[in-house]
Amino acid sequence: FNKIKESLSKTRDSINDKLETVIKTFRTVDEELFEELEEALITADLGVNTSLEIIDRLRSAAAEKHITDSKALKGELAQILKDILKEGSSNELNVFGLPAVIMVIGVNGVGKTTSIGKIANMYRKQGKEVVIAAADTFRAAAIEQLEVWAERAGVRIIKQQEGADPAAVVYDAINACKGKYVDVLLCDTAGRLHNKKNLMEELKKIHRILERELPMGGKEILLVLDATTGQNAVQQAKEFKEAADITGIMLTKLDGTAKGGIVFAIKNEFDIPVKLVGLGEGADDIALFDPDEFVNGILD
Ligand code: GDP
Repeated sequence: FNKIKESLSKTRDSINDKLETVIKTFRTVDEELFEELEEALITADLGVNTSLEIIDRLRSAAAEKHITDSKALKGELAQILKDILKEGSSNELNVFGLPAVIMVIGVNGVGKTTSIGKIANMYRKQGKEVVIAAADTFRAAAIEQLEVWAERAGVRIIKQQEGADPAAVVYDAINACKGKYVDVLLCDTAGRLHNKKNLMEELKKIHRILERELPMGGKEILLVLDATTGQNAVQQAKEFKEAADITGIMLTKLDGTAKGGIVFAIKNEFDIPVKLVGLGEGADDIALFDPDEFVNGILD
């Protein structure tokens, strides 16, 4: 827990300090206070629509409960933020199956390779069998880097040459899993938005093979987003959602940013839950996303 709280320190400084300032300035609950709070949320990267909705809910809650002291609003706000993260799609990873499949997509530089290494390491430490499919055959360097992570985590990696058909790599990986009690098959993909139609087709092709060969297991399509890019990451979530059935997000680099507020915007506007967070460059700098922990971590 401390690791998460520590990693959220910049986001906490951004959101909490702004809210505290407003609450201290306006002692009584009135419309001006709500407007200032809304402004504070927008500047803390929660997005305009989401901030409006949060303040609408807060206004209703304050009226219903006859809250007149501004300090009492913070508890209400915390509850609304938690509700937003818990409504709609679940933030839990479906990793039931032998194997369950996690496909990972995202643009270059967001931390895709590192994240796959961390996920492999996380499940390995839980005693699970993990296989990585190096189906991002676009960059040779990415395959090599992934091999380093696989070796470090002590998991098997299935690869082919640069430029190979990603679907063929996935097919090989499925065969490597069969009859072996593999818990998680992690598929790196060249899931970039260089061409939305290509991306859709490539992912669909891989998905078809997975559905045919492994019909029973959980399937996750995880989009990796870099939290330091703020509204840019929100835009990426929107665009990728149009191209693929994303089931969740791994939000990286939360440790170095004040822009963690995008978690709310992405959840509220696109109903895509953050499922994992990256908290540093090391193999253990990963955590399952917990809405209560996250909100508590940024509000005090
Ligand atoms: P890829 O191009 O998407 O595969 O990105 P990489 O996995 O190569 O990561 C790009 C850079 O981001 C590397 O320097 C990583 O160490 C760094 N990185 C990845 N995840 C995190 C994170 O959660 N926190 C921090 N601080 N750095 C990260």
